[in-house]
This record gives sequence, C-alpha cells and structure tokens, in this order.
Amino acid sequence: MNKSEIAVFDTTLRDGTQGTGINFTLKDKLEIAEFLDNFRIDYIEGGFPLASEKEAAFFQEVKKLNLKNSKICSFGSTRRPGIPASQDTNINALLQAETPAVVVVGKSWDAHVTQVIGTDLEENLEMIRDSISYMKSEGREIIFDLEHFFDGYKGNPEYSKRILTCASEAGADCLVMCDTNGGTLPQEAAGIITELKTLSLAPLGVHFHNDTGTAVAASLLSVDAGAVHVQGTVNGWGERSGNANLCVIIPNLSLKMQKKLSCSNNMTELTKLSRFCAEKANIIPEKNQPYVGETAFNHKAGQHADVISKAPELMEHLDSSLIGNSRKILLSELAGKSTIVRKLSKYGEYDKRSEIVDELTQRLKQKEIEGYEYEAAEASFDVIMRKALNKFQPLFELQNYHLESHKTMTSKSKTVGRLFLKAKGIEHMGAAVGEGPVDTLNASLRDALIPSFPFLKELHLIDYRVRVLNPEDATAARVRVFITYTDNENSWDTVGVSENIIEASWEALIDALNYYYNNFILKDQK
Ligand SMILES: [Zn+2]
Repeated sequence: MNKSEIAVFDTTLRDGTQGTGINFTLKDKLEIAEFLDNFRIDYIEGGFPLASEKEAAFFQEVKKLNLKNSKICSFGSTRRPGIPASQDTNINALLQAETPAVVVVGKSWDAHVTQVIGTDLEENLEMIRDSISYMKSEGREIIFDLEHFFDGYKGNPEYSKRILTCASEAGADCLVMCDTNGGTLPQEAAGIITELKTLSLAPLGVHFHNDTGTAVAASLLSVDAGAVHVQGTVNGWGERSGNANLCVIIPNLSLKMQKKLSCSNNMTELTKLSRFCAEKANIIPEKNQPYVGETAFNHKAGQHADVISKAPELMEHLDSSLIGNSRKILLSELAGKSTIVRKLSKYGEYDKRSEIVDELTQRLKQKEIEGYEYEAAEASFDVIMRKALNKFQPLFELQNYHLESHKTMTSKSKTVGRLFLKAKGIEHMGAAVGEGPVDTLNASLRDALIPSFPFLKELHLIDYRVRVLNPEDATAARVRVFITYTDNENSWDTVGVSENIIEASWEALIDALNYYYNNFILKDQK
C-alpha cells in the first residue's frame, strides 16, 4: 500500500449508527464495508463484537470478503478495574473478532474515572497499560481512543498527558483524541495538540462530534497542528448533531490542503460513496451538503448561469466532476434564456433568439404563476421540452380512474382504486387497495401498465412531498406535489399542481413514468 500522509478512519458502521434513524442490516454493513474498501478508506470500524449477534456476525462475514485496502477494526473498552486484561470478557471478544486492528477506548477525563467507573486515577492508567500491552502481545495494531480527551485536558492537563504517555509506552500505534461531547472549538483543539509537541508519543489522531457545527473545521486544524489520523462518518451521521463528515474532510484534505491520502485517486467516487450509504440507510442525504450534496453545484440566477457557460471557474470553488458531482442550472423565473438553451442542448443546438426558446420561456413563466416549480422537478420540465419539440411519446392514454375511501367506526380508512387505460393499443384495467388515495392511485397505475411495460417493476416511488400554496384559502387551497422516482441507479423528480391533491399527484406520477419511458426506454429517439 502506498504511504499516505493522513490516515482516514471511517466509523459510519459504529458511531454513525448512533445517529437517529440510522439502521443497517448485516447485508448493508457488508456492502458498505466493501464500498469503503474499494474507495480505499484506511480503517473501517465495524462495531463492538459483544453488542449483539448481528455485530459478531459482521466480523465473521467481513473476513470472507477479503478486503484489499481497508483494515477492519473491532471496538471495545479497556479491561474492567481489578482483573487482568487476559481474563476480561470484553477484551477477549475483541481478540476473537480476529481483526487486524483493534480500537480500544479508555477514559481520559479524571471526573469520569472517579465518578463513572468509580475507580482511582492510577488504576485507570493500569487498565489502559494492561489492555494495550496484552492486545499488542497478541499481534494487533492498536488504535487507542481517548474518550472525553479535550474536556479532560481542559481541567487536568497533567493527567491527560500521563494517559497519552502511558498508552504510547504500552505500544499503542495511534492515540486518538476524542471530543466525545462535541463542545470543543477548532482553535482550542489545535492549541491543545500543539501543547503536546514536547512529548514523545505515538502518532496522534482525532475524533470530533459536530455539536458546535465545527467538527470538520476542528479536524482540519488538528491536522495542521500535527494529527495524522482523522476519524469521521459518511454524510456526518452520528449521535446528536452527528460526527465529523468524511465526505467534507476527505476532499478538503486531498483537494484543498494537498495531503496525500490512500483514497486520493478515488475522489471522483466521493459523491457515489455518500449516496450509496444514504441508499443503504434509507435516508435522503442533506441536499445542501458541501461537495457531495445534490444542490452543492446548483446555480439559480440567470446571470450566474450566463457566467457559468463562459467561465465556470469564476462562479465555482471547484470543478464538481473532481468529486463525481455535477453542476445544475436551475430553472426559474430568474433564469435567462441561456438556461433554456442549455437545457435544450440535450436535443440539439438552439439559438437564444429561436422561436422554441421564446415559447419555452413564456411557458415556464406561465407555469410558475400557476404554482409549478421546476428547480426540484427537472424531469417535468424535460417532458415539457419534449412536447414542444415533438419528441414525446406518452406511455398510455387514460380512460378513467375511480378511487373510493372506506372507513367504519372501528377500522382504519382504506382506499380502493380502479383504473382503465389504453397502452400499445390495448385496453387494460388496474386495481389496488391502499392506505391512502395517492398510494392506491400509484399502485393501480402500475398494475395496469406492468403487463405492457415490465421495466416499470424496477421503478419505485421514494419520496412524496406536498406543499399548500395558498393556505389562506383553507380547503380550496392549491397544493403542489413533488415526487421522486428511482430505478435504483438514477432518481428524478416531478411536480404537479392542483386544488385537488389527487389530481396534483396524478400529474407528478405520469410525468415521472413518461420521463423514464422517453429518456431511458425510447432513448434512441433523442
Ligand atoms: Zn464518537
């Protein structure tokens, strides 16, 4: 393996799963580990082998993957007070996980030693020394996590330094200073690391939580101050406000600070890494996340879009393709004709003064007055463009649909739907029973279409959002519906607007299916 300057340590599968709503199955964990390995993350923390059967099984199964680049780590605490490390169940479970590296976590805030584990400061040092040297003698690489390091250091720097020295002398390969409560500011952390320079210690690492919104900044300043190992999670997932976000730390270290990382040659996969893990966690990642977010390279105002087409470097901090993301020029009232020209370029070269550009600009304005918004629904605008260009082929012709909701005093309401349509010249009926009308409509439509278009089986609705446009009109208010559909590889968004929520949803649904049909199935027609 080529030598990197800074080791990147991923704890998505351990600390990341402490985040609200983050759950991975064993299969998800293995797939993420494989992705991280291909991306060349240096270390992957798999979890605490004694925590559950799923955690223990992970270590058994991950061995079979024969990862090429990353070292899998098990995670657990130092031995309990008063017994030798060799007889401690936790310590032996860490060894039985048979990982090349082990993360041992120890107390480093004096108040936690005396008040939480209820032992004295000297015994805590002995627990650290004994645990590390025992596992070293078993041939493991030891990453020692100093829990609450920065808070402990602020109150009792001498004791913190003794812990660092003790772990170092016991043979730890890396000393990771953790800001467990997440309250340390970047300049404080960097100042403390600088004060440690007089000590002769094993290499230093850092682990920050984002409670002050500065976890990434603290990680970067720590590297400047001398840390050579950085821990974090994909998309910044983690307890409370999350952990330091590796999807931001990695490009900052590699592309802005020019540090050599093992994953430096894989930067173009970074956006995929973020989205792959989000898919596994079944979470829609923050759209405005730096670097990898869906909107990270979006441009709205018409003038911006104009400059972008001439000199993108004047409007962007980085070429989005370097990290595998892409620029989007948003459609809006503000957008100039050059945006329309750019959107149309998919179908040919059109001049700003051409009739079609004029027609689409007018149409966009009219639709926006009615409440449509295409910034987050580009697939619907694509359908409009195709229609204007006569490059649109509808998937089907609707004849009619019926939806009926049933409820009794004691049962939950259910909706029954029937739908008749004509596809490929043949009449079809679709039927479904669902929880609500939109769900039922979607299911009936799929039921009717799948016999003629089996590709629809692979498409799924993954997000549905409703916004009331004029709440002052109460129940007569117009609603705007956005939906997101996916084929598991691509996702696209569509919009519908109506006083009737079912009608608005219907518009968005058929746009979504027609968009896919025209762009992915009939693509030769472009
Ligand atoms: Zn943590």
